[in-house]
Amino acid sequence: MAKLVLKKGMDRRLRAGHPWIYRGEVADLKGHWSAGDAVEVLDAGGHFLGRGFYNPRPSLACRVLTRLDEPIDQAFFLRRLRAALDYRRSAGLLAEAYRLCWSEADGLPGLVVDRYGPVSVVQCLTLGITHVEPWVTASLETLFPSGGVYRLDEPTAARIEGFEAERGWRGEPGPSDLVVVEDECRFAVVVGAGQKTGLYLDQRENRALMAAHAGGRRVLDAFSYAGAFACHALRAGASSALLLDSSPEALALARRNLELNEVADRAELQEANAFDALRGLEAGGRHFGLIVLDPPPFTRRKEAVEAAARGYKEINLRALRLLEPGAVLATFSCSHHVTAALFEAICRDAAGDAGVQVRVLATLGQSRDHPVLLAVPESRYLTGLLLQAV
Ligand code: SAH
Repeated sequence: MAKLVLKKGMDRRLRAGHPWIYRGEVADLKGHWSAGDAVEVLDAGGHFLGRGFYNPRPSLACRVLTRLDEPIDQAFFLRRLRAALDYRRSAGLLAEAYRLCWSEADGLPGLVVDRYGPVSVVQCLTLGITHVEPWVTASLETLFPSGGVYRLDEPTAARIEGFEAERGWRGEPGPSDLVVVEDECRFAVVVGAGQKTGLYLDQRENRALMAAHAGGRRVLDAFSYAGAFACHALRAGASSALLLDSSPEALALARRNLELNEVADRAELQEANAFDALRGLEAGGRHFGLIVLDPPPFTRRKEAVEAAARGYKEINLRALRLLEPGAVLATFSCSHHVTAALFEAICRDAAGDAGVQVRVLATLGQSRDHPVLLAVPESRYLTGLLLQAV
């Protein structure tokens, strides 16, 4: 195994528990290697720090998988995936749909695994992980003897890392048209289609929190995707729901989910840019008792945080103006550069400008099957607030 030697002082982040090594921090690579191979990581003094996959193409060149002197082999992946499953089982997070493995936070940087019914959906985010995907698949087949494993890579990560994003069954195909139950709600999942790996699993617990406020209320689900928030709200007794999304495919999925939950008669779907639609609703004098704002990331780059903040402020300002007295707003950011503190400041500003006094009913984050590694702030990307107009 080749040895990656860090420049002097560049071991500090690693020693603090963060597993990332940037290309510019590497002093030398000794021995034979090719892109995606496992390497041994040493500090400038030659001391062993761990092992990880190396890829010189992205600036984030290596993510340490283990700090022990242990082989990275199939047994290693099985142990880590079993630990991921054990955590979720003991935390009561097993369900028909959940995230089994969340990259760094489950000790497997570059690997995401989501479970939908009997099917495991695997996302490889680094070249190194693509090379060991057969071990991942075999481990999943050990943990879940029936079902199927579907590989569904994320194109952006594939481009950065320099591999072909794959999409398809590994081994025996499993069922691809599924209906999964999430707290009484039924959601259609077509394996390999749609956004994310099928559902926005990171919002599972927030959907339940939001639904507790839905009874008897008119709901606006902005950036609805497949209508998961709206379905929960309507099942919980909301009087009506307006779903807004700019994607016709998302709204087609939403229609199917509303029907599956037998709440379609109380729902209205609107294909629109939410920025314009929120303005239109305000101009039309509309008000709601519960609003969900769950936009896509407004930035993936640190330099664009200010522009993103303006976007968040605008939609929150407009949503706050649509709240009737006592109404609740569940508002989110999934841009990981927008911290919880910044997001709260943005919402405070928006509420001030809207002239609406709100109280914080809950601070929200990603569901607990997407745990956050304290040393890796990047593993916390979803932040939110449950606000009430008072
Ligand atoms: N709340 C959803 C997930 C929302 S993902 C859930 O819990 O499942 C964000 C959604 O915003 C996507 O469906 C995307 O199509 C939509 N979107 C992106 N930009 C938009 C815009 N400008 N106006 C309306 N919808 C938009």
